[in-house]
Amino acid sequence: MAYDFDLFVIGAGSGGVRAARFAAGFGAKVAVAESRYLGGTCVNVGCVPKKLLVYGAHVADELEQAAGFGWTLEEGHFDWGTLIANKNREIERLNGIYRNLLVNSGVTLLQGHARFTGAHEVEVDGQRYSAEHILIATGGWPQVPDIPGKELAITSNEAFYLNELPRRVLVVGGGYIAVEFAGIFQGLGADTTLLYRGDLFLRGFDGSVRTHLKEELEKRGLNLQFNADIQRIDKLDDGSLKATLKDGRELIADCVFYATGRRPMLDNLGLENTGVELDARGFIRVDEQYQTTAPSILAIGDVIGRVQLTPVALAEGMAVARRLFKPEQYRPVDYQNIPTAVFSQPPIGTVGLTEEQALEAGHKVQIFESRFRAMKLTLTDIQEKTLMKLVVDAETDKVLGCHMVGPDAGEIIQGLGVALKAGATKLQFDETIGVHPTAAEEFVTMRTVTR
Ligand code: FAD
Ligand code: NDP
Repeated sequence: MAYDFDLFVIGAGSGGVRAARFAAGFGAKVAVAESRYLGGTCVNVGCVPKKLLVYGAHVADELEQAAGFGWTLEEGHFDWGTLIANKNREIERLNGIYRNLLVNSGVTLLQGHARFTGAHEVEVDGQRYSAEHILIATGGWPQVPDIPGKELAITSNEAFYLNELPRRVLVVGGGYIAVEFAGIFQGLGADTTLLYRGDLFLRGFDGSVRTHLKEELEKRGLNLQFNADIQRIDKLDDGSLKATLKDGRELIADCVFYATGRRPMLDNLGLENTGVELDARGFIRVDEQYQTTAPSILAIGDVIGRVQLTPVALAEGMAVARRLFKPEQYRPVDYQNIPTAVFSQPPIGTVGLTEEQALEAGHKVQIFESRFRAMKLTLTDIQEKTLMKLVVDAETDKVLGCHMVGPDAGEIIQGLGVALKAGATKLQFDETIGVHPTAAEEFVTMRTVTR
């Protein structure tokens, strides 16, 4: 049967654009439908605007350090409206770049919501299109627990477009987004409290990293409340919000920001017209090659709920394009040793196993840990400490994990990701000449086993 397209991609986010462009480059006839914004979450309400706001908040650190280096500055003033307007302009520029990338690759771009009408058929704006393969790359959406007053709270989607910086913010959650936005709000001058339901935030990260970041955030005056969860939110007469916690405490704020995870975006997708099944958590079930339970339909990225990171969605998109249209170049995505950063203030960089994961997997481990005050701070009164940690297999000498909390952690950890992928040993780290004077050289000069 002749189809309108070889591949129809639903969603022009990180994974969808990558799959569409490369499939078209391999000679396939490709269409992409996008209902909201080109570039998806990462470009519009994720990685990119988030990082721009993190840079904005970090300026406060630079200003604080300036006096130690002899600079006298007049009292600074921060204008939220300017930052958001400049950020919006940059996002619009990127939207245009994504449009050009798709169109110049020969992809047919359809602006509108796509809905399955069959296993080989999609409807966009009343028009039906058939395709041999259909790729679901619809991403995720913030999930807020169902508590009274939840409509008074905002999520990351709205935070990027607030008209003004709230004076008092309650951030709820203990994952990437909560920790990053707590740093943004506080760095820009809001009185910020982070509420997390467990004993210590960033579950799944290395224990030393979690404790170290907690201490550093507290030094910066962030109000961290663990074992704390909101039961209800009410609006007061003066317009402020009252959050009543499960333990009965009442907190007043101007903004309650929820970052309690993301659900798959399946709204009005018409999956009932296909044989696509969901997994136990509600994400789309796929096999190792991103094939859903319907033979003509594939899914990648946040909607499969595997690893919700842009570079992973990109790798999955590439894998799908190659498998379908350039099978001789197909290589499965390697989910081991994915480097990642949390852009908190100070940031986290991490790759490989945590100490806890290594022990659980049965490794006999040697831990190398170093805490030091970065050279840049020695001319200032700031007492922030950097943490670096290596988890090493005591039997094979292989480095199993590298973890850092401190300036530029994300930049530093990328290179260590290559080392771990290559299977580097601690001896090879030791034999690597350091770059002096940097913080990064500490990763190749830690000689004494801490544990
Ligand atoms: P998305 O990028 O979400 O794209 C899905 C697209 O599909 C969207 O454009 C949507 O409008 C469209 N769509 C949905 N349904 C339909 C439909 N029925 N019809 C047509 N179009 C549809 N990751 C990192 O690696 N680093 C970071 O620093 C980082 N920061 C983040 C910060 C925040 C605040 C958030 C929310 C996420 C962050 N992420 C980060 C995660 C990253 O954004 C996602 O992992 C990534 O965008 C997933 O890509 P995707 O292609 O699966 O989906
Ligand atoms: P995460 O899954 O990382 O964290 C969710 C947090 O909310 C956890 O601390 C969780 O607690 C808590 N939580 C979940 N449900 C509830 C509830 N009902 N009540 C109270 N607390 C709750 O999600 P995020 O929203 O922070 O981010 C989504 C994903 O986006 C991340 O996992 C990451 O993959 C990606 N991302 C990546 C970034 C980066 O690369 N720098 C930045 C931002 C996002 P518990 O641990 O107890 O379950």
